[in-house]
Amino acid sequence: MKRVEIAPNLVIATLWADALNAAGMRAEVFSRYLTSIAGEIPPDQCDPAVWVLDDGDLPRARQLVRELRTPVRGVGWTCHECGERHGAQFAQCWNCGHSRPASTPG
Ligand SMILES: [Zn+2]
Repeated sequence: MKRVEIAPNLVIATLWADALNAAGMRAEVFSRYLTSIAGEIPPDQCDPAVWVLDDGDLPRARQLVRELRTPVRGVGWTCHECGERHGAQFAQCWNCGHSRPASTPG
């Protein structure tokens, strides 16, 4: 098992893990601080990390996460609700949960 990347928050970690699983890799999200202090700090400060269960998937997984972090394809969009900028691959605002406008191309 190898760590792919530390995510800025649990929502993004879950998005990355879902994307890796969708690409055929077995990925899980683990917090850097495991159960010992869980509940004592806010969930968004636990620095969740995405791991691949198969070490051989690591290069591919890192490449995919890199693409998710810095999308080069498609058109990004701005959340109408809170103004947060998003890459083209995201269908929902991670800041406020608002859905991407249907009229946005890409
Ligand atoms: Zn938003």
